[in-house]
Amino acid sequence: MDVLLLRHTPDPDRLVALAARRCYSSLSATAIEERLEESEINRLLAVLRRRNHLSPFEHADFTFSVGGVSRALSHQLVRHRIASYSQESQRYVEYLKRNDLPFVTPVTIRENAEALRIYEKAMKAALEAYAEMRTAGIPAEDARYVFPNSVETKLVFTMNARSLFNFFEQRLCNKAQWEILRLAARMLETVKAVAPRIFRNAGAPCMYEKPYCREDDVTCPRFPKNDTPFGKP
Ligand SMILES: Cc1cc2nc3c(=O)[nH]c(=O)nc-3n(C[C@H](O)[C@H](O)[C@H](O)COP(=O)(O)OP(=O)(O)OC[C@H]3O[C@@H](n4cnc5c(N)ncnc54)[C@H](O)[C@@H]3O)c2cc1C
Repeated sequence: MDVLLLRHTPDPDRLVALAARRCYSSLSATAIEERLEESEINRLLAVLRRRNHLSPFEHADFTFSVGGVSRALSHQLVRHRIASYSQESQRYVEYLKRNDLPFVTPVTIRENAEALRIYEKAMKAALEAYAEMRTAGIPAEDARYVFPNSVETKLVFTMNARSLFNFFEQRLCNKAQWEILRLAARMLETVKAVAPRIFRNAGAPCMYEKPYCREDDVTCPRFPKNDTPFGKP
């Protein structure tokens, strides 16, 4: 899986704090920014999250490039509607020009010799069927119907910080599907590097200071203890 933060709003922590201050000040934006001290940025960002005053976080955009992921993953990803997506087209990008089998193999299958044999046979059959149909004159947009969920894809997508909070909350759950969980972990790592204050408490609720478990799953090693400030999860 390749995950790259392509672009982001410059100085995102500062911009979000400036947008928040805008709500409570009659000064011009320039004057607000001139007076915005680092300690005030820290305070404002923490207060916004606590109060659920989240619209200022929508001003900070983050654009990712992701490759080597399955269409099973991308199908889950694009369910997050508060985002913009551009995905490699199976109509215009010709699979036959690739040398290797462009499929993602889950670890459970990779570690089971018999399952791996069955899996690779199925993948090879899909690619061969695709090639034969293309040779028979079937357009790529129809031949692609033989491809399974595992077929690799590439995307560029943009989410703002508020949408990312929601994405991380859902997809960094220990029980999230492994591929999107891995993607979310890599994305959080990259955005924390450029906006450490915005994303200070981003993640699944069990990773917060006041944890709870959405899944109510006592089998999860991260399951919060019953004596949290929220009481029994
Ligand atoms: C553990 C798990 C299991 C799942 N299983 C399934 C499944 O079996 N089948 C399935 O179809 N999906 C499933 N999903 C996908 C899920 O239902 C959401 O579509 C997806 O996670 C995107 O979340 P979202 O709507 O919060 O995000 P976004 O689409 O980014 O929306 C962000 C927020 O905007 C608001 N919003 C957006 N659109 C609307 C709207 N139309 N009306 C009101 N409010 C809106 C909501 O507050 C929403 O939380 C699953 C997700 C998870 C995490």
